[in-house]
Amino acid sequence: PWTPLTLHGALDRAASEFPSRPALIADARTWTYAELAFWSRRLAAGLQRLGVTAGDKVAVAMANYPEFVALKYAIARAGAVAVPMNILNRQEEMRYVLEQSDAKLLVTMDAFRGSDYLRMLDAIAPGWETVGGGETLPKLDRVVVFSAEGEAAPRPHATPFAALDRDESEFRDVAVQPDWDCDILYTSGTTGSPKGVQLAHDMLTRTAFGSAYARAFEAGRRIVFSLPLYHVFGYVEGMLSVPFVGGAIIPQLRFDAHTTLSAIERLAATDALLIPAMSLAIVDAARERDYDLSSWRSALASGGRAPERLWADLFSVLGLEEVTTGYGMTETTASTTVTRPNDPIERLLTTNGRLRDVGPAGDPDMGDRLVDYRVIDPADGALLPPGETGELVARGPGVTRGYYNKPAETAAAFTHDGWLRTGDLGRIDADGYLVLLGRTKESYRCGGEQVLPSEVEDLLTSRADVAQAHVVPVADERMGEIGVAFVVASAGATLDPRELRDFVAARLARFKVPSRVIPILQDDIPTTASGRARKFLLVDLATQMVGQG
Ligand code: ATP
Ligand code: MG
Repeated sequence: PWTPLTLHGALDRAASEFPSRPALIADARTWTYAELAFWSRRLAAGLQRLGVTAGDKVAVAMANYPEFVALKYAIARAGAVAVPMNILNRQEEMRYVLEQSDAKLLVTMDAFRGSDYLRMLDAIAPGWETVGGGETLPKLDRVVVFSAEGEAAPRPHATPFAALDRDESEFRDVAVQPDWDCDILYTSGTTGSPKGVQLAHDMLTRTAFGSAYARAFEAGRRIVFSLPLYHVFGYVEGMLSVPFVGGAIIPQLRFDAHTTLSAIERLAATDALLIPAMSLAIVDAARERDYDLSSWRSALASGGRAPERLWADLFSVLGLEEVTTGYGMTETTASTTVTRPNDPIERLLTTNGRLRDVGPAGDPDMGDRLVDYRVIDPADGALLPPGETGELVARGPGVTRGYYNKPAETAAAFTHDGWLRTGDLGRIDADGYLVLLGRTKESYRCGGEQVLPSEVEDLLTSRADVAQAHVVPVADERMGEIGVAFVVASAGATLDPRELRDFVAARLARFKVPSRVIPILQDDIPTTASGRARKFLLVDLATQMVGQG
């Protein structure tokens, strides 16, 4: 039976069950569960010394360093609330998150894009280097800087990360309750400005346990991922899922297909977390060079639509035995539906999996479901009969209580009987599998007919020469809205816009055919930390381009 559990409670349990198993593997170092738990206690003592008390918000802007992992557990242990920040944020976005979250302390880094980060910080918080903060961020009273090069104080007056690492005997225990907030995790900002989702300890540990269970983890699973720890995918499906089976994570600082493959080979990884762009690059890299991938058994491939050949390549080129995919969002503590490890490839192609079982079937103490879904009519909120397409709404102990300091947005996000409006279109098929069709906001009407961009995108990416397709509407006097398709060519391919348009016209109804097809470089597509196109920015781009004729 499930007993409510804190984040650090899950780590401590693993530390007593599997003290000498590896928990965290960086390129050159490994930490066992006992070592990681001990490290997090020392950092928690350090946080307390810097004045952090229960309920304080501690912002963290760091790449996937081992320090990030230990610090997350330390913040939880001190009863504080972590505010993980996107390290690709620009100045205004940083200011927004630091202010909106009431962050009192910021732990950031002087490496990678770090120096940029610190310069931006200077601009929004003059005087941040001295305790007391700047005028524009009155609540922020200290910045701790982590330097990957070693701890030669990276800035005058900034507290070096090493100062956090205190004698653990100084730690004063905090009676952290499992229903306390553990994180304020910002959404990706695909549809607008990111919102800080409140995630409680028990939501995180239960969902992570459910993830390990649904993906049939065996003992000692080792997961490699370069998805950032400040996003639910890497955090929950990666970092938080392994303590339950004494497995290890191998977080990577940035994505590079060859680096990932050599890490799998060298560190005997069994599992990886992938988004479609990564799967594509890894398959290409494995064709280019020979790797011993015999340890690698499974992957959780999610976060975006992927063409059929890609799913097939994961099995045939990489030799994986299990590939699963899922659906979820920050508000539901990561993915809540997942395909079964032995589902056929058609399921991966057409659905995002079934609701996750959170424990042995029929065990009432596990709670039925962490998250349940219904489908409503987005226009009037009426419940739709099974099988019909509409807006997915979610409810259950895995769903957030709301957005931090945003009462109006929180109220608007829930129906009157407490279901979270996901903003996603989908249906639940006869077998109980969820089919995600895109976002309610992204569907549009051309000449009065409704178009789902995902249908057109899937058709375009079914071609081997199209690596990515993003269809967005632009306003049109005659038709109301018309579609514009941005397409990214596969490696070595050249795309002919007219031919692509004809290809769609030969297969789909006229109102679904994009009025323009525009080839674009992958790097020119604005994306989120989880690798998704920020479509509202593409709408602006399309509007400009169509305006120019
Ligand atoms: P914001 O809420 O700020 O606009 P976001 O919704 O992208 O950003 P996340 O919480 O990271 O922020 O992403 C959740 C969304 O990702 C879901 O609402 C859904 O639209 C999309 N999504 C989830 N799973 C998949 C999947 N398997 N394939 C495609 N899209 C997915
Ligand atoms: Mg969202």
